[in-house]
Amino acid sequence: MENCLFCKIIHGEIPSSKVYENDQVYAFRDINPQAPVHVLVVPKKHVSSVAEISQLADADIAACLHAVSEIAVQEGLSGGYRVISNCGPDACQSVPHLHFHILGGRQMAEQMA
Ligand code: AMP
Ligand code: ZN
Repeated sequence: MENCLFCKIIHGEIPSSKVYENDQVYAFRDINPQAPVHVLVVPKKHVSSVAEISQLADADIAACLHAVSEIAVQEGLSGGYRVISNCGPDACQSVPHLHFHILGGRQMAEQMA
């Protein structure tokens, strides 16, 4: 997808701090971390958000969540973590390439929003 920030990161055209990669998934540290651990997990195939998830193969969707689970172990988040996917303007999604935020390394607020 042309002019997609996360597609450019996946293709190495924009630098990122990679934490995980396989055939289906790329994961990197958020440039503006909101917790001690803040990782973004993205499918390599471009879809804009959860709203378009039917355009992804089930295997790609599953790969994202398996990656979340593996990265949490890799990052030492034994106390737990939060997984968020902002979808659309009401959720303040700022990058229109599906991504899952992993937030951890501190106690999260009880209220999510
Ligand atoms: P969202 O607002 O849910 O769409 O999340 C987009 C996230 O991408 C934000 O948390 C940004 O801080 C993050 N972000 C934007 N540009 C970059 C970048 N070049 N490298 C890493 N993270 C980025
Ligand atoms: Zn993209």
